[in-house]
Amino acid sequence: MPIDIIILGSGDSIGTPKLACRCETCEIARKNGIPFSRTRFGILLTHYSKSDPTNTTNILIDTGPDCRMQLLQAGIEDIDAIFWTHMHYDHMVGFGDFYHNRGSLDVLSTEETLNFIKNFRFKVKTTPHPLEPYVPIDYHGLKITPFYVLHKSALTKPIGFLIEDETSKKIVITGDTGFSIPEESLKLIQNASPDVLITDMFTDADTERFKEVHMSISEAIRFAQISNAKETYLMHMSHRCKPHDELETYLGSYEYIHVAYDTQKISL
Ligand SMILES: [Zn+2]
Ligand SMILES: [Zn+2]
Ligand SMILES: [Zn+2]
Repeated sequence: MPIDIIILGSGDSIGTPKLACRCETCEIARKNGIPFSRTRFGILLTHYSKSDPTNTTNILIDTGPDCRMQLLQAGIEDIDAIFWTHMHYDHMVGFGDFYHNRGSLDVLSTEETLNFIKNFRFKVKTTPHPLEPYVPIDYHGLKITPFYVLHKSALTKPIGFLIEDETSKKIVITGDTGFSIPEESLKLIQNASPDVLITDMFTDADTERFKEVHMSISEAIRFAQISNAKETYLMHMSHRCKPHDELETYLGSYEYIHVAYDTQKISL
């Protein structure tokens, strides 16, 4: 068990149910909760050191508006580092809740995203680590390689992460992205053949409106197929998608593609 992953939030920027929405997906989510309801984006990685498994590092990928409650519910409140994919509201606004965190938090992202978030003057003590896409860094025994994705509505260039541990387990997290990511990024993912790919899936219909911002289910399936990933988890789903169980049925013939849900645990 070198790495444990918890899907803290599998939903889009407004979450499911959406306030005041009476669509079928929202009504089923209101009635049944998880896995039908979805809070905003968040992933927790716990890395166990190979030489000393009691030595753990907790990494939070993005800090959305539900982040505080997600961490309390997961029972993991001691965070070592935050990796930001991009600066959209649903990926960073919960950072203010780390106010008066003991010590300093490592924050890792591109220089542009770090500077953007700094402008919000959250009262959190941080140690920034600016990342250069495609240049790997070592973080507490993990090799982290950031790569550009395609998220047209972002004000600064968004990134995903390839994370590799000492036992060569590999995880790819794309964050918010459309299908046509840069060639260099796709090659990086394909060459890695990740054990786990966690990728964007926003809507189960192919509409022009979200092209190059998010993926539809057909694009996400195609992306999983070309990625060389062993297992793929789809997240960042909106209320525009069918309810959770219907999505799972729809994906039934793709045994290696899963619909992520809040509180889901994945161990590597
Ligand atoms: Zn988002
Ligand atoms: Zn709805
Ligand atoms: Zn976004």
